[in-house]
Amino acid sequence: MKAQPKASHYINGRYVDDEQGRPLEVIYPATGEAIARLHAATPNIVELAVEAARAAQDEWARVRPAERGRILRRAADILRARNDELARLETLDTGKPVQETEVADPASAAEALEFFGGAVAAFHGDYVDFGGGPFAYTRREPLGVCVGIGAWNYPIQGAGWKSAPALAMGNAMVFKPSENTPLSALALAEIYTEAGLPDGLFNVVQGLSEVGAALVTHPEVAKVSLTGSVPTGRKVLAEAGARMKHATMELGGKSPLIVFDDADVENAVGGAMLANFYSTGQVCSNGTRVFVQEGIYDRFLARLTERTAKIRIGDPLDPATQMGPLINRAQLDKVTGYIAIGREEGARLHHGGGVPHLQGFEGGFFIEPTIFTGVRDDMRIAREEIFGPVMSVLTFREEGEAIERANDTEFGLSAGVFTLNLPRAHRVIAELKAGSCWINHYNLAPVELPFGGFRQSGVGRENSLAALAHYSQLKSVYVETGDVDSPY
Ligand code: NAD
Repeated sequence: MKAQPKASHYINGRYVDDEQGRPLEVIYPATGEAIARLHAATPNIVELAVEAARAAQDEWARVRPAERGRILRRAADILRARNDELARLETLDTGKPVQETEVADPASAAEALEFFGGAVAAFHGDYVDFGGGPFAYTRREPLGVCVGIGAWNYPIQGAGWKSAPALAMGNAMVFKPSENTPLSALALAEIYTEAGLPDGLFNVVQGLSEVGAALVTHPEVAKVSLTGSVPTGRKVLAEAGARMKHATMELGGKSPLIVFDDADVENAVGGAMLANFYSTGQVCSNGTRVFVQEGIYDRFLARLTERTAKIRIGDPLDPATQMGPLINRAQLDKVTGYIAIGREEGARLHHGGGVPHLQGFEGGFFIEPTIFTGVRDDMRIAREEIFGPVMSVLTFREEGEAIERANDTEFGLSAGVFTLNLPRAHRVIAELKAGSCWINHYNLAPVELPFGGFRQSGVGRENSLAALAHYSQLKSVYVETGDVDSPY
C-alpha cells in the first residue's frame, strides 16, 4: 500500500520539498507498514510558507466576500466529487474505517467550506446611531496570516474547519497537520488551487512540535488555531500570549454522559457507544464518564454489552468494518496502560480490554472496545483523557449528585444527558460546565453550531458565525457630521 504525495509541503500553489528536513514516515495504522515518506519543514520551508501567505493576503482581503465564498464553495464541490478517494486516503492516514471516513471526514470539511463560503457575505459590522447626526460603524477586518495546527483524529476535517472561516474572512493560512497524519491536508491544498484560490493563501508544512512552535512564534503570524492536547495547548497559548497573538485552542476532555432512569434505553446505549467507540475512541468530545442512574443500570449494561460485543473490528478498507486500529504504537501502549491502571485501581473490566488477533493485520494497533464498571470518581481512568475506546460506567442516585460529580473535572469540552423528562434535560444541561452539549444524542458537530470547550478544554470556538468572529478583528469608526466641539 502506498500513498506517497508529490512532495512534503504545499506552498504558494505548488508542492515543494527540502530533503534536509527530518524524515517523517507515514504509517498505515492497520498494518504498521510505511505508506509514504516525507520531510519535516526546515526553517527555510517555514519562512517560505509564511512569506507566501503574507504576500498573498493583502489582495485577498480586498476581494469581495461573496467572491471569496464562491471559491470556497467550488472547493467544497470538488471535495464532495472526490469523497470516496479522499475517504480512502484518510483511512490510510488514520486507520479509521471507510464506513466512517466516507460519511464523516471530507464531507465535514466540505460542509465547513459551504457554510463559511455562504455566511461570510452576511457577516458584517454594526451601525451605531448617536442621535442628531454623528454615527459610527464597525468593520470586521481579517487578522492577516493565521496558523492552523491539527491533531491526528480528524485531519481533513480539522484542515477544513480552520481554513474555511480563515479564508472566507480574508486571511491567509499556513497549516501544519499532525505528524501522524500529514496526507489529506495536501489533498485539500491541491483542491483549493483547482477551485481557483490564489496561490499562497493556503499552505501546508509538515513537521513535529518544533515546526508548530516556529510557526506560532513567527512575527508575521497574527493568529494560531490549535487542535490538540491540553499540555500542548498551554504551551502554544503561552507563546501566542507573550506575543499578543489571537488564539483558538480546541483541546482535550473527559466528558460526562448522564443517563437518567426515564431514558430510552436503546437510544442511551447508542449514544454512549457513539460517545466512546467512534474513531476507536479518538474523539476529543467523547463522553467517557457514563453516569447511569441506578434504576436503569441493569438494563443499560445488558444492552450495552450485547451491542458492544457485535462491533466488527478489522480491515478499515472493508465497508463492513466498524472499528479500526488506534493511530500508532505509542497510543496503543497508552490505552493498554490505562486498561491495566483501571484494573489495578479496582475497577471491573466488564468487556474487552484485549488486543485482538486479526489475520493479516498483526502489525496493526488494534484494541477491543472496552467497558469498565464499578468505576469511582477518583480513579485515574475516570479523571484522565485516555483517547481510546475505553468507557467508564459509574452509577448515581439523584440529579444533584450527578451534576456535581459530572462537573468535578478540570476539563469542560462536552456533556450529554439522556432523559425523556423535558424540564430535567434543560435544567441539567444548564448546570453542566461544558461548551458542546447534547440532549438525547452524542457527538454530533454540525457546522452551524459553535464547537469548543470551557475550562482547560480550550479558548475560542470553531464553526458557526463565532468562528468568523475569531478570525477577524473589529474596527470602530466614529463619524462626525457636525462641528468639532473643542474646549481649546
Ligand atoms: P498533540 O497535542 O500531541 O498535538 C497536536 C498538534 O500540535 C500536532 O500537530 C503537534 O505536532 C503540534 N504540537 C505539539 N507541540 C507543539 C508545540 N509546542 N507548539 C506548536 N505545536 C505543537 O495532540 P494529538 O495527540 O495530535 O491529538 C490528540 C489530542 O487532541 C487529544 O487531547 C484530543 O482530545 C485533542 N483533540 C481536541 C479536539 C477539539 O476540537 N477540542 C479535536 C481533536 C483532538
